[in-house]
Amino acid sequence: MFDLPITPVARVGGLVAGRASPGGGPDLPVYYPGTGAQVSVLVEDGPEAVAAAVEAARRAFDHGPWPRLSTPERIDVLERCRAAILAHVDELARLECVATGLLMRELRAMHMQRAAYNFRFFADYISQTAGQRYDQAPGYMTTVARVPVGVAALIAPWNAPVALATMKIAAALAFGNTCVLKPSEQTPLALARLVDLLQEVLPEGVLNLVNGRGPVTGAALVAHPGVDLVSFTGGTETGRQIMAAAGRNLVPCTMELGGKSANIVFASADQDRALDGALLGIFSNNGQQCLAGSRILVERGIFDEFTGRFAERAARIRVGDPLDPATEIGPLASAPHMARVLGFAGSAQAEGCRILTGGARREDLGEGYFIQPTAVVAPSNAAHVAQEEIFGPFATFLPFDTADEAAAIANDTKFGLVSYVWSDHLPTVMTMTERLRSGVVWVNTPMMRELRAPFGGFKASGVGREGGASCEAFYTEERTVTIPTVPPPLRRLGTAD
Ligand code: NAD
Repeated sequence: MFDLPITPVARVGGLVAGRASPGGGPDLPVYYPGTGAQVSVLVEDGPEAVAAAVEAARRAFDHGPWPRLSTPERIDVLERCRAAILAHVDELARLECVATGLLMRELRAMHMQRAAYNFRFFADYISQTAGQRYDQAPGYMTTVARVPVGVAALIAPWNAPVALATMKIAAALAFGNTCVLKPSEQTPLALARLVDLLQEVLPEGVLNLVNGRGPVTGAALVAHPGVDLVSFTGGTETGRQIMAAAGRNLVPCTMELGGKSANIVFASADQDRALDGALLGIFSNNGQQCLAGSRILVERGIFDEFTGRFAERAARIRVGDPLDPATEIGPLASAPHMARVLGFAGSAQAEGCRILTGGARREDLGEGYFIQPTAVVAPSNAAHVAQEEIFGPFATFLPFDTADEAAAIANDTKFGLVSYVWSDHLPTVMTMTERLRSGVVWVNTPMMRELRAPFGGFKASGVGREGGASCEAFYTEERTVTIPTVPPPLRRLGTAD
């Protein structure tokens, strides 16, 4: 029904030290979510191919130039990575679109720009880093330097593959590490091309790519003893497994995990802005965002009016072809994911939720994985649809009476990634920002990421943070060196008569 964004190469595989990886696993299909058609084949990397990739990264770290480059030299390479992305924005966006179903307009204007900017951001960041020096003990100088950790295993999800993976790649490289990247097996195409492009800029073995299913390729990567750190973005359950495996090797991890974030609308808010923000908060990126404002808590006095206006606008959202600039929501990323999201519409009805709008597949759009933007009112915060991360265009509404109650409902979840507060009453805003148990609170704005600030979650939403100084802390080891400046005399053992 819809045109393909691009015809990708027929077979895509990993890259080890700049050469095709040995693979070794079965072929995996890659589908276009806009039509359900198979568009490529992914060659899975088995444990031997993963070991080859880790060894290549190890060699590049232990013997190659990368960790030993001067900061200006490394900045120059990071800038060339940025330029390589900017020179291929359209191709990368099309490859991302054909595997994810994300909107071409947004992939070009946002995801790929952000990917390029990630390299500029860390190039700028390392131009400003400094060590420490202490002179407390008389005659002694102690310095603390941050040095690269080693081989970084970078594991990425399918919902924004290039934008999210490049944050990890740029950070790991900027601080002198070498990498093995494992994209999601559902969405490997744009990242495969990106890693290929960056080979022309980076020394051999600095950035390697392995592909395949999580429990096979991902698990082999995390368990490999040559890996020195793991940066993971994905689901909470996967995060638990990866942390347990990394723990066996005593390897540090960051975990950027799931969410069920509260979007809290007070009567004291600018209602039009809050409505626009609530719609963006849940329906952006085809509804597949870790930071989605998926539980919308609305003060009771404005509840009916707000939910009515939200449902009316949601029903008018243009769902369809990811290539059409007028489309506002594209397909979900896969057939099983669509079935899962629609399953929540079924369970919502069974649990006594009131369906405000949506809840069904868009059969009129052919075989692609399109569903109606959906909104329900839950009978309580205990409902499945108020507790589980749905990861689709599916909003769950709940009313509240006081700020205390809003904070209690917002915090009554296993997650704690972000929160949104909408109010023009400063004491209400300040009360909420202090009480909310989440890593980020956005006030009167939908998602607005500041890369210098930490991003990450409380509770089951994560461990560690991404962002300027947080990445510096994670991707480096601290090394303390003490030297006598004017060597004081030492106590002399074994000299007594
Ligand atoms: P997922 O956990 O299924 O997979 C993520 C990655 O982990 C994939 O590359 C997968 O192949 C790999 N993997 C799976 N099992 C593994 C294992 N045992 N060992 C090693 N690797 C393994 O997640 P997903 O479905 O791709 O992504 C959606 C999830 O990601 C959602 O929960 C979403 O909230 C979360 N997410 C979080 C953030 C954040 O910044 N907090 C950002 C985007 C997505």
